[in-house]
Amino acid sequence: MTDAFANFGLLAAVVRSTGERPTNYVVAALAAAALFILSLKWLSHPRTARRGVRAGEIGMAVAVVATLLIFHVDWHWVLVGIVVGSLVGAPMAIWMPMTAVPQRTALSHAFGALAAALVGIAHYYEPHGATIDRFTMGILAFEVLLGSLTFTGSLVAFGKLQELIPSSIKGLPNQNLINFLLLGAAALAALWLIVFPSHYVVFILLVLLGLAFGLCLVMPIGGADMPTVISLLNSYAGLSASLMGFVLDNYLLIIAGALDGSSGLILSIIMCKAMNRSFTNVLFGRMDPSSTASADDVYGGKVKSASPEDVAMLLDGVQRVVVVPGYGLAVAQAQHAVRELFNMLEERGTTVEFAIHPVAGRMPGHMNVLLAEADIPYDKLKEMDEINPSFGQTDVAIVIGANDVVNPLAKTDPKSPIAGMPILNVGAARTVVVVKRSLSPGFAGIPNPLFAADNTLMLFEDGKKAVIDIVAAMKEAA
Ligand code: NDP
Repeated sequence: MTDAFANFGLLAAVVRSTGERPTNYVVAALAAAALFILSLKWLSHPRTARRGVRAGEIGMAVAVVATLLIFHVDWHWVLVGIVVGSLVGAPMAIWMPMTAVPQRTALSHAFGALAAALVGIAHYYEPHGATIDRFTMGILAFEVLLGSLTFTGSLVAFGKLQELIPSSIKGLPNQNLINFLLLGAAALAALWLIVFPSHYVVFILLVLLGLAFGLCLVMPIGGADMPTVISLLNSYAGLSASLMGFVLDNYLLIIAGALDGSSGLILSIIMCKAMNRSFTNVLFGRMDPSSTASADDVYGGKVKSASPEDVAMLLDGVQRVVVVPGYGLAVAQAQHAVRELFNMLEERGTTVEFAIHPVAGRMPGHMNVLLAEADIPYDKLKEMDEINPSFGQTDVAIVIGANDVVNPLAKTDPKSPIAGMPILNVGAARTVVVVKRSLSPGFAGIPNPLFAADNTLMLFEDGKKAVIDIVAAMKEAA
């Protein structure tokens, strides 16, 4: 939704709403802004989230229609934009699977930011750089810098999430120093342009430095820092759209971009706190030394596998079960099968709860959305801090397609890429059943000692098929 606020910028750029504003436009802008704010408020809770999406959609429709009707519009360019955008966007919306939403979001950040950067570049060249006043030049420089770094940064994030760029790529030697030098040089170029706006070469240099900094910012990031970087890129795209609003003198764009930018920034800070990450490290793409234990050392001869029938027997007559969903649950689309297992266990008097890690899956709230789709009651979904103390009183923890969020290396190996990240303490349960297809690593690319623990049984199977088979075995044994 916040991306939509930011991408409204392209339309505003075509329409150029400068000059005197009719009263009905001001009223429409206020109504749209109020709807955007209500949308963000309602989106913050699962119960009101649908209402939040509707409010945002109506707000965006009001903003777009009012802008098109009230100002003198060059319909040619608007129509070209609608046709090209629909040709790209409609197939993406229809055919991209739910599990690819994070990559799609990274792409839309990239395009939104590219739009902001291009509008800034066009504005600089069109009225001629030399005639731009210092205030506008400062805003323009910042807009173009944020837009270009968000463009390349989001493309790298897309590549990593789509596994086109291996998460083992960690960037260049002395990456921290290179990042600080790039950012420092970009800040100097921006200051230079404020004093000497007509120095076109410096303007081009600023764009190139922004593009390079975006690459260097995201390339070394992986493991537990990736979710925070994505929300930070969202925030940068929003801020550059807001700055574009100042350049184009468009109130609505300033408000929509500021809402997008500030909500992304607040989310990044909340995620950093929840994940025990340093916000400055994420902000500057700072890389700490990381090592990876070898899979052979971790697993060598210690992994025990189980069949669905074994798991069904294990679940017979137990008091308390905790299900830990992860990215693999989304890949397998196992949520409805999990609902059936939940119903069956609850009918037999077993208490079942779901442990939700803040970065399980590939986007904030991924697991909540999946489980809500299968009508699993909200009160059964427990946040990490709430459920962690209760694993000691849990008979069976069933981990379905989760890996990094239950990896004890986060606590024991200070050099691992997830070091310091709080994890779900599933190992404290009496028995742990891990459902996944193989011993392949998760997003962070490291082995998981939980799979070789004495109290762990591995069920090597697709998540959905495994849960269906467990339910069938339970029915058969009843
Ligand atoms: P992981 O990525 O750590 O692990 C997912 C596991 O799912 C894999 O090990 C895979 O193993 C298994 N899997 C895949 N497909 C299936 C299937 N069909 N059936 C059963 N299992 C399957 O997931 P987590 O949720 O534990 O952790 C999330 C990771 O993603 C963290 O590192 C986090 O930092 C990162 N991240 C999170 C974001 C967010 O906002 N939530 C955004 C970006 C990154 P196998 O192939 O053997 O089946």
